Amino acid sequence: MRSLPEKGTINVYMKNDITTPSGHSQTERGLRELRSRIIAGHWPAGSRLREVPLAKVLGVSRTPLRAALLKLEQEGLVERSGAGYTVRGFSIEDAYVAIELRGIIEGTAARMAAERGTTVGELEPIKATITAIDTIFANDAVDGYAPLNDQFHKQLAELAENALIKREIERANQLPFAAPSSFSSNSDDFIRFKNSLVIGQHHHRALVQAIERGEGARAEALAREHAQLSRANIEVAYLERSENNIKVPQLALITTE
Ligand SMILES: [Zn+2]
Repeated sequence: MRSLPEKGTINVYMKNDITTPSGHSQTERGLRELRSRIIAGHWPAGSRLREVPLAKVLGVSRTPLRAALLKLEQEGLVERSGAGYTVRGFSIEDAYVAIELRGIIEGTAARMAAERGTTVGELEPIKATITAIDTIFANDAVDGYAPLNDQFHKQLAELAENALIKREIERANQLPFAAPSSFSSNSDDFIRFKNSLVIGQHHHRALVQAIERGEGARAEALAREHAQLSRANIEVAYLERSENNIKVPQLALITTE
């Protein structure tokens, strides 16, 4: 429940109230921005999120900010502490489980896409994404991989043609460490990093081939195996965290030894 506005501030207040359309969009914007900062490891686990500076940084007023924080509490990214909120800490197992979950749901999407008889025409856009990733590798570069990888995974989610699956994949991607490109630009070992991307691209190609051939079980297994690649990257980053902490800021969310 909101408190009464101070005398003379009613217009300003109404503009920012979460029940108005602009308040809704402020909450959405604040939520998106705050979520992506937390997932990116912008604040270490246990950091106190102070409303006034946070509202300023995010460019939203406090009422929508509170609504966004409440939503993030439900998502498990922040927790209440006294009158405010702190960034929640995660164990390395939480990270592995989040990746596992993403792999399971993406696997289901891939199987459904294969079993529903996805046409060659419907696969054109995802094949174009694979070709775009090939072009990056052909130039011996890795910059630009992450957005294309994200695009591939979005297109994969859509091929299942099921709103529930699509929503669950989106939800899984909001867990820390689970998004397909979570760790794809942070390794300091270029050769190992590039190798991992090349293997990932091999998975992408095989996945689309399995869908095109209607091989549901293979498509599902490939998507799950593909998620295991993310786990391997996190394992390496976690083991090397003392040297790597700055390069892999998400590790600031891990609290358990
Ligand atoms: Zn991928």
